[in-house]
Amino acid sequence: MKTALHGGTELDVRAIRSDFPILARPVRRTPLVYLDNAATTQKPKAVLESIRAYYEEMNSNIHRGVHYLSELATKAYEDARDKVRRFLNAADAREIVFTRGATEAINLVAYAYGRAHVGPGDEILITGMEHHSNIVPWQFLRDEKGAKLQVAPIDDRGELVFEEFERLLTPRTKLVAVAHVSNALGTVNPIKRIVALAHARGVPVLVDGAQAVPHLTVDVRDLDCDFYAFSGHKIYAPTGIGVLYGKLALLDRMPPYQGGGEMILSVTFEKTEYKKTPYKFEAGTPNIEGAIALGAAIEYLNGIGIDHIAAHEHDLLRYATERLSAVPGLRIIGTAREKAGVISFELAGVHPHDVGTILDQEGIAIRTGHHCAQPVMDRFGVAATARASFGLYNTMEEVDALVAALGKVSQVFGKS
Ligand code: PLP
Repeated sequence: MKTALHGGTELDVRAIRSDFPILARPVRRTPLVYLDNAATTQKPKAVLESIRAYYEEMNSNIHRGVHYLSELATKAYEDARDKVRRFLNAADAREIVFTRGATEAINLVAYAYGRAHVGPGDEILITGMEHHSNIVPWQFLRDEKGAKLQVAPIDDRGELVFEEFERLLTPRTKLVAVAHVSNALGTVNPIKRIVALAHARGVPVLVDGAQAVPHLTVDVRDLDCDFYAFSGHKIYAPTGIGVLYGKLALLDRMPPYQGGGEMILSVTFEKTEYKKTPYKFEAGTPNIEGAIALGAAIEYLNGIGIDHIAAHEHDLLRYATERLSAVPGLRIIGTAREKAGVISFELAGVHPHDVGTILDQEGIAIRTGHHCAQPVMDRFGVAATARASFGLYNTMEEVDALVAALGKVSQVFGKS
């Protein structure tokens, strides 16, 4: 049942909250207010149940078994791949590679695509708002190949300076790697525009979608990106499972990333023949239960509707921005015109870790630190921020609780 709640959003948040057992537990003797969703999300019963059912009803290794349980597990695993395909609107399930998460997906591309296509003096173009996961793998590649890492700057709002991005796209650029949504700032990047520009110059684009898939409908065919990476645990699925989407023609031409069982057709001491895409990228026994649970999370989200979730989170973001802006001494870092899910802020004269610690005493979980985006912190001249990030189960009342607790922080530090 859906009821119109805040600002016309069609989401029955109370019913949704009852799907997440952990939200009912008290923390420090107060109700939990979980505002750390950009780090990881909580899991609904449907996801927890899918893991239990997997182990109770079909636990078995996949692909190489002829027995009943192995067939069941293989089917469930491959069904999950197809659920991800539909979720991203990919053309073919072979374009979906299961990984440990966004980090492994990006490393896979840096290794398997990057090593074959990037040489001395070539350039990889990223932006100034990337997570370390979309910086460090390219530094490995740069150092190995004698290539150059170019960084398109961001402005004071935390938006990409598009003209600079365009200027840095040169005949030496071999790959663009860019976040869809910044985890530190919440900025939504204009991916279609970035892809169109890069493609006009013959450059493929990898999109780090770790912070986008929980908040936006993602259509890889519409975006026309070449690679898209995300992590299951940020969309209400378990840790240890993630996805690399790649256009089939590109994946087909890429060598494997890791060697081992599952990815081979035949092995002699002289020579190994690999399986086809996507299996050649899935060496070893995969996270079977994780993939199945990711499929369950996607079904759960589809049942609610990503567009409804996006609208609800947009309302939360607007309300929280309004209320936090009125807190004396509070500065929001990241004021892009298009944002999703995240508000980073600092409170004058109070270290973000102190903010986080005092909020924790009130049962409010936020994240403090550099958010694995130290260059973003440098850009804004701060060592760290406090970050509240929203999920589909958060409420306006929780935003009120955050603001009230920040009032206590100010009192403790003698600011009001
Ligand atoms: N990219 C972005 C934008 C992120 O926010 C994160 C995680 O916070 C990652 C990549 C890495 O995700 P994971 O640690 O799940 O691989």
